Amino acid sequence: MYHVRSNEPRFDVPDFTLESNSLTIHTTDAEVGKDFQPPSKIKEGSGHSVTWYELEPLDSSRSKRLRKTIAKELVNKFLLINSERDYILTDFPLGYRLYCHKKGTRVGHDDVRHDFYIYGAGYKFRSANEALFHFAWLMRGMPKRRCICVYDTPITAHKRRQGALNRQYKRAWDAVLQDRHKQHVAAYQASVKDKAPREPSPPTLNVFNDACFLLPE
Ligand SMILES: [Zn+2]
Repeated sequence: MYHVRSNEPRFDVPDFTLESNSLTIHTTDAEVGKDFQPPSKIKEGSGHSVTWYELEPLDSSRSKRLRKTIAKELVNKFLLINSERDYILTDFPLGYRLYCHKKGTRVGHDDVRHDFYIYGAGYKFRSANEALFHFAWLMRGMPKRRCICVYDTPITAHKRRQGALNRQYKRAWDAVLQDRHKQHVAAYQASVKDKAPREPSPPTLNVFNDACFLLPE
């Protein structure tokens, strides 16, 4: 249980904790001892290029940036905490790791390209957006057949198509904002009518934005 401001939504579930600006996901679908193992060999590609994997350290700026992007989106939009604060995922869920796939002209010279992937539980997430829907599902305790991520979704149009999922997500989020606005207006009008100051509504407990992040039950 945490609360920063008395009227902020609160959560009391075993799947994650939010303390101050740190989000920690406790639930994982990764199996012990089955972590992704990158090929240890340097692979020779076409055009005299070589490719290899490196584990990205948790304290690298790339890792921090990615974990901040994921946490901010999840806290603001999945947990519906309307705050300008920065949030960070303290670590990836157990069994998930960030790798950099490097390509260079020779061993040790990653001068062609870097691609970052979050590996875990058999998934290879290519961006913060790809991962965050699956992580939202972990935070809900992995309800069966409800993960909306592009690897688990039964919606054909979204299968491995993050752009299509992002567009659907944006529409759903816009609807949430419109709804929020309507509620504010209605509450304001009610307070004017009653000539009474508006009482702040009590904080909600364990309320999630499932409409934007999970498939319906
Ligand atoms: Zn998923």
